[in-house]
Amino acid sequence: MSELRKDPITGRWVIISTTRGKRPSSFGTAPKQESPKMCPFCPGNEDNTPVEVLAYRRNGTQPNRPGWFLRVISNKYPALRIEGSLSRKPNGIYDQMDGIGAHEVIIETAEHSKDLADLSVDEIKNVLWAFRERILDLQKDHRFKYILIFKNHGEAAGASLEHSHSQLIATPIVPKRVVEEIRGAEKYYEFRERCIFCDIIRQELTDKVRIVYDYGDFLTFTPYASRFPFETWLLPKQHTSHMVDISTDTYVYLAEALKDSLNRLRVALNDPPFNFIIHSAPVGNEYDEIYHWHMEIIPKITRVAGFEWGSGFYINPTPPEEAAAFMREVDPSEAQKMFAAKAIV
Ligand SMILES: [Zn+2]
Ligand SMILES: [Zn+2]
Ligand SMILES: [Zn+2]
Repeated sequence: MSELRKDPITGRWVIISTTRGKRPSSFGTAPKQESPKMCPFCPGNEDNTPVEVLAYRRNGTQPNRPGWFLRVISNKYPALRIEGSLSRKPNGIYDQMDGIGAHEVIIETAEHSKDLADLSVDEIKNVLWAFRERILDLQKDHRFKYILIFKNHGEAAGASLEHSHSQLIATPIVPKRVVEEIRGAEKYYEFRERCIFCDIIRQELTDKVRIVYDYGDFLTFTPYASRFPFETWLLPKQHTSHMVDISTDTYVYLAEALKDSLNRLRVALNDPPFNFIIHSAPVGNEYDEIYHWHMEIIPKITRVAGFEWGSGFYINPTPPEEAAAFMREVDPSEAQKMFAAKAIV
């Protein structure tokens, strides 16, 4: 059982997890082309994973058997678990609570060698739809205040298995990063009575220099104060606080925008390790007016070092205007050729 501990100075919560250190890693031992037999996320190896909580599969196929093209399972080595109570246990000046939550893995494709950006727009739409279905289901558990979707691509970005997947963690506490964004958005709203994110979109569309691509319903740009080189944000132009609230037909446009953005990054930086996160408002409708959901895509091409750790400052060697100009220029369809070349080797 993991536990949540609160730092008494900063108020930051930390998950102290005893099980995750033991999890296996496929990196360094099995090259990509040889690992499907051993890969727990490949069809045929369903017995090696926890049972599925959701799957999109061919008609007539059995749960937890091959025939699926997308599968959601509980994480075998969860950072947080469903069982436990919400109550805080004081221990002198320290605060602690059970590590309750949900930790799920979304296996995005049955094909071991494909990355998310290789999937068709329709397949990516299914991945986004699975996020939506899982969020709507987990929101019913009133212990969960926040549901974060994220993806680690590549070992340097924290992926422990190569088979393309994303993850979901539901937490009993709103994470500090989200609280910071909410506080800032709240202050701006008090002052201007407008959503800061909507205003950023307006300004970026006027300035144009940091826009990577304008997809119509969605926009990608490199934020003005980007922390990392090629940090890219993807936002819906229409104000919505939760990803699950966008209209059904919009998912296909979101899938197109995500595929294009990931492919631009791949071509620009030669398939870099990256993380993406989806920031929606906390569960409930409390922040509907002030918060605007978005995706943050962060390539891992620099390391967070001493100065960053010590100060909270980030040193970004690539001005966001240059990164955006570079990503506007690249041809995202090149990514498919790069990928094809990789598969033949
Ligand atoms: Zn696999
Ligand atoms: Zn907004
Ligand atoms: Zn954010």
